[in-house]
This record gives sequence, structure tokens and C-alpha cells, in this order.
Amino acid sequence: MSDCAPTIMWFRDDLRLADNSALCDATSRGPVVCLYVHDPAFPLGGAEKWWLHGALSALDHDLRAQGGQLCIMAGDTHESVSWLVGQVSARAVVWNRRYGPHGRQVDAEIKATLKARGIDACSHPGNMLHEPWQVRTRQGTPFRVFTPWWRAMQAKGPPLPPLPAPDRPAFAVVPSVVRDRLVTPGDLGLLPVRPDWAQGLRAQWQPGEGAAHARLDAFIAEQVHGYSTQRELPAQPATSGLSPSLRFGHVSSRQIWHAVDATGQGDQDIACFLSEVGWRDFAHATLFDFPDLGTRNLRPEYDAMPWRHDPAALRAWQMGKTGYPIIDAGMRELWHTGWMHNRVRMVVASFLTKHLLLDWRVGAAWFADTLVDADAASNPFNWQWIAGCGLDAAPYFRIFNPVSQGEKFDPAGEYVRQWLPEIAHLSDKHIHAPWKAGSSVPRGYPAPIVDLAGARARALAAWKTL
Ligand SMILES: Cc1cc2nc3c(=O)[nH]c(=O)nc-3n(C[C@H](O)[C@H](O)[C@H](O)COP(=O)(O)OP(=O)(O)OC[C@H]3O[C@@H](n4cnc5c(N)ncnc54)[C@H](O)[C@@H]3O)c2cc1C
Repeated sequence: MSDCAPTIMWFRDDLRLADNSALCDATSRGPVVCLYVHDPAFPLGGAEKWWLHGALSALDHDLRAQGGQLCIMAGDTHESVSWLVGQVSARAVVWNRRYGPHGRQVDAEIKATLKARGIDACSHPGNMLHEPWQVRTRQGTPFRVFTPWWRAMQAKGPPLPPLPAPDRPAFAVVPSVVRDRLVTPGDLGLLPVRPDWAQGLRAQWQPGEGAAHARLDAFIAEQVHGYSTQRELPAQPATSGLSPSLRFGHVSSRQIWHAVDATGQGDQDIACFLSEVGWRDFAHATLFDFPDLGTRNLRPEYDAMPWRHDPAALRAWQMGKTGYPIIDAGMRELWHTGWMHNRVRMVVASFLTKHLLLDWRVGAAWFADTLVDADAASNPFNWQWIAGCGLDAAPYFRIFNPVSQGEKFDPAGEYVRQWLPEIAHLSDKHIHAPWKAGSSVPRGYPAPIVDLAGARARALAAWKTL
């Protein structure tokens, strides 16, 4: 094969140029063809699709600024990669690993096909601090509890230092037969039309590597100090908002680690923030070791849970019309922006799985469709944690009371007032329990859909049957 046969850099959930070890490998081998395959066999939620449109456009823009382009193909992954390899006479295909079961299976199949054709196929560490199999118990088994896992993780030392973006990479000429098959982000139909519900997403987010680093820099400059005390307050802009950028790989967890750690090792706020980034790794490691994390209870005794079927209650929860302000504010924040504060995610998930006694998978599916950071590991991991069926889960009997959670974490009602303008006039005393305000509650705001004490007793009775 000729020396100038190109290497295909296959982008997936790593839509960035810096700290991209597969891209560095590809550019060190000679000319590169940059590929992204949009395959319906890897379904995305509505908010993720919106983000992906911007993310692909931003990466293409960044590659063009260097003289290249992003070749976007639509269709079956295996067929697309194989076809492109033949058309450009590639000598290698390189990528960064993914950890979900379907992705791993497809990658293994493609690797086998390429190897059989004599083409090098090389996978690199994905977007984790350390690879899942590098952090194990002394017996070599996966950790089931976060704290010892986190200790073992830290004992491994810092993650690899981030790599710079390739310097003046060479790009292969894309032949016309390939250009004829390429599509644009617009062709993929990722943006919502009729109705265009993405106004709130556009106002809040900008997909792409540049915007992710601007957000990281601003977080380090303005928010990280104070993170440990402010992060639980949904009315405060105290968290990084980096989750969608991590989900799409505009920034790597190694870059975040090193940038934040450099600002003050041992500081309580920094330690707290890095441990949250650690929860993300733990969720991905759990998905790697328990591939059906998204569909099956990690504690099998929960298979017998008598979940209810109640479409009206589910709809009220989804639409933010339960009559409990902290729940409704969170669900409307999600609908409007594609994101929800972590504390509120916990409270709405507890309400769904306990007060409404609905299956966590129903809630996770709604989150997967509406979150811009919807993640195949973090989403089901956290739902299982809240529902009690996760490995290291909160006990089922720990049921968040939405009124006292609101009073504790949104004491002045600022968050609720932002998202529920119809009850913004209520006093602080009634803002988390409007039904106590008598005639000053507007007609449009619903009465509570469940009685908290009765619903809690029902949930505990169901759990005792396990
Ligand atoms: C029911 C439920 C569902 C969730 N679904 C998702 C999801 O689909 N995608 C997702 O990225 N996060 C999910 N989370 C975790 C968490 O809510 C978000 O990561 C966080 O709110 C993102 O905001 P941030 O970037 O400002 O977080 P920060 O507080 O700034 O934290 C920094 C990073 O740490 C990671 N992180 C923080 N908390 C967690 C956590 N509990 N689990 C895993 N990683 C964490 C995230 O990558 C986050 O960007 C879920 C939590 C719950 C309770």
C-alpha cells in the first residue's frame, strides 16, 4: 500500500480536536480522512439530536479552518466504514473507545472485518479518567460501591495529561465518489420543525469544542470556589454545566481534571468537584461491567416490584403539572432548556419511582428524550441509584419529600418562581406548598396529584413485598 494511503479518523462521542488520542494517532500516520457516521441503529433523544446538529457543524467548521472537513455519512455503521475504507484506499481506521454494549459489539465486528482485509484498526482510550478495567478490587472484580472505587481510582494517580490538538495536520483529498455520498448536518433532520421547541435550548447552549472550553474557563474563574457549598442550590449558577459537552466529547474528563486540579490541589471545593466527575466515570465503568444497566435492575429482587401503570400521572410529571412546585419547576426547566439541576433530578426521580410508584425505566426514557446531556451510562445509573435497584443505591425507604426538599434547597423559592411564574406571587411560606395558600393559588395551577403521606405508605408497602 502506498505511503500516502490515508488513515480514517472515525469520530463518535469525541467531537473535539484537542486531547483526542485517536486523532493524534491518525495525523501522525500521514493524511487523514475525518468521518462521522449517523446510524439509526444508535437512536438519540430529541434534545441530543438538537445538540448533535450543532456539534457536527462546529467540528466541521474547526476542521475546515485547518484545511480539512468532516465527512458525514448516514446509514449502517459497518457498511459505511467499510465502504469508505475501500473508496479512499485507507490503510488504517482509528477511533476512541466507547463503553456501551451496542457500540462495543459494532466496534469489535468492524475491527474484525478490517483486520481480515489487512487494514489496521486501532482503538484508543475513550472519554474516561482511566479505562474501566484499570480500576479493580484486589480480587480483580468490578467495584460495586463508589467510595472504595474512588479511593482505588485516586491511588492510580492523575489521569494522563491532555494532548494538544494536532499541529497542521495533513488531510487527504476526498474523491468525488465519496463526496457524492456525504450529507450535511442539515440533511440528517436533527433539528425540530413544526413545532420548533428548541428556542430555550438555543438561548442556553452552544455546542462545540470552543464553547465547551469557554464554559470550563468561566467555571474555574467564577464558580469552582464555593462549589461544595453552593452546588445543591438550583437557583444558583454554581455548577459547571459541562455535562452535554462531556456527553459529546467537546471536552475530555482528563482536560477538566487537569485544568481544575491545577487551580488548587487539596482544596475542598476542587476535591468535591473532581469526585462528581468521578461519579461520571463510575457510571461508565458500571455500564462497561453491567452492559444491561439501561434495561435491567442491577438488584434482581426489584424485578418483582409492583410498579403501577398510570399514564395520567406520568403525563402530569412529564409536563410539570403535579401540583408540587419543586417537581414542576424541574420538569419545566428540563422541557425548556434540555437540562435540570442535579438535586432536582434526584427529587423528581424519587417522586416518580416512589410517590407515583412508576418504573424507573419510564422516567429514564423521558430523560433520554429531553436531556441535552442524555448519557447511556449516567442516566440509567442515576435512575437505578434513586429507585433503590442500583448496586450502590440509596435505600428504597429514603423517600425525598418534595415540600421539605424545596424548602431546604430553594429556601427563598427563587428557582420555583423562575419556572412557575403563575405562582410566583405566593409568599415564601406557601411557595413550596401552594395548596395551603387558599384562594391566592391561581386556577391554572394543579392541586397535588397524590397525597404525600398516602403515596409514601403505598411505596413502602410495595417495597416490603420484594
Ligand atoms: C435521575 C438522574 C439522571 C441523570 N442523568 C444524567 C445524564 O443523562 N447525563 C449526565 O451527564 N448526568 C446525568 N445525571 C447526573 C447529574 O445530574 C448531571 O451530570 C449534572 O447535573 C450535570 O450538571 P453539571 O455539568 O453542571 O454538573 P457539575 O456539578 O458541574 O459536575 C461536573 C460533571 O460531573 C459529572 N457528574 C456530576 N454528578 C454526576 C452524577 N450524579 N452522575 C454522573 N456524573 C455526574 C457530570 O459529567 C458533570 O458534568 C443524572 C442524575 C440523576 C439524579
